[in-house]
Amino acid sequence: MANSKRGRPPGSQNVKYAETREIPAACIRCGSTELKKVPGSRPLLQEYGGELPGGFRYRAIIRERRRCECGQMLIVRVYVPAVEEPAEK
Ligand SMILES: [Zn+2]
Repeated sequence: MANSKRGRPPGSQNVKYAETREIPAACIRCGSTELKKVPGSRPLLQEYGGELPGGFRYRAIIRERRRCECGQMLIVRVYVPAVEEPAEK
């Protein structure tokens, strides 16, 4: 049995990062966009919905720590899209 990956069991509510919208962030110190995830840091999920200027509706925001290659720490916001109900005919 493969039990190397610890995490939530299948079937539980999960966040699909592939469907989220990430706000491009650049380092405030050197301008680099090569921001790496900080090992061991836990993304903070905020159940706070809203709408972006582009019309993108979200239901939650994930705040995640990133580290630039220059050493600068930044917070990147990732928007979790609101689940759209199938449109009526
Ligand atoms: Zn930097």
